[in-house]
Amino acid sequence: MKVAIIGVGSVGSAVATAVKNTGLVHEIVLFDRDGVRARAAAEDLGHAASFGFDVKISAANNYRTIRGSDIVIIAAGANQKPGQTRTDLLQNNADVIRDIIPRVMANVDPKRVILIIVTNPLDVMVMLAQKLSSLPPARVIGTGTMLDSARLRTILARGLAVSPQSIHSYVLGEHGDSSVIDWSGITIGGLSIEDFCRQMKVPLSATTRSAIENHVRNAAYEIIRGRGATWDGIGAAVADLLKCIVNDEHRILTVSIVAGTGANVLAMSLPRVVGANGVVATLNPKMSPAESAALRRSGKIIQKNFSRL
Ligand code: NAD
Repeated sequence: MKVAIIGVGSVGSAVATAVKNTGLVHEIVLFDRDGVRARAAAEDLGHAASFGFDVKISAANNYRTIRGSDIVIIAAGANQKPGQTRTDLLQNNADVIRDIIPRVMANVDPKRVILIIVTNPLDVMVMLAQKLSSLPPARVIGTGTMLDSARLRTILARGLAVSPQSIHSYVLGEHGDSSVIDWSGITIGGLSIEDFCRQMKVPLSATTRSAIENHVRNAAYEIIRGRGATWDGIGAAVADLLKCIVNDEHRILTVSIVAGTGANVLAMSLPRVVGANGVVATLNPKMSPAESAALRRSGKIIQKNFSRL
């Protein structure tokens, strides 16, 4: 399994480390428009590899070096500065995707390659990458709200004193400020969250829910304020997605792919079954009318941003 990572800043480096540590790949190629940075990252990661899985890690001087890649991860582009939203990155990062995708496609096998998109604003970049690559939507996969869902699961687990492994909970829609928590679909040990809280005698007030929503939605802003960028969480999310693909696990992940036709074309996160060929199915989540309306609003925001390109 050969993996190429395009963009080796904070996120690309964390992704490379996390992917290496899965032990599932034999070769990682790093490409960045800043060649010095890519070579330094490959050198550093190569030293780390000597302590664990024997992965061949190299820096690419040009796109020909990514030939033979099974999966290409796009983590290039500007990141949010304190106070910026993901949407503020729209035009800049659209240019980055326009620069990268044709070069990637000239050097991979379009019949089998899977693109994983990490660059923000995520859903719009998925739409653009899918359009430019002409790949089937199932094989242009954005990490979407995987990280937001992980944040929600962690917060609920801590608050309810139960393992995150026992919680099924999803954040859907935009990977951004309009993301929607699917409270109606949460199950813990087979119970709805309300039934679980009743049985465990843990109060779940509207104030608590709203505090959880704010925590999930503002987590990235807090991390950026504290350490300048976010990288560990997304590195782990990408490695988890890659593991699901390589092992053909058919796990349900909240990833973002393009769906719909004509004026309804849209990429946003829904619960999707992921395997060796990418996304194999999308589930219709159980939502209240208010949650469904919020999801539709979120979709409209993504479409509006895409139309600005
Ligand atoms: P960074 O500034 O540390 O690194 C970006 C890298 O991209 C730089 O090394 C730069 O040289 C490279 N680059 C820029 N344009 C390029 C091009 N045309 N070709 C090749 N390389 C190019 O930024 P970062 O913190 O690593 O963030 C990268 C992206 O990931 C941002 O868009 C950020 O918002 C996004 N991100 C997404 C998630 C998510 O959940 N999807 C989470 C965190 C960050």
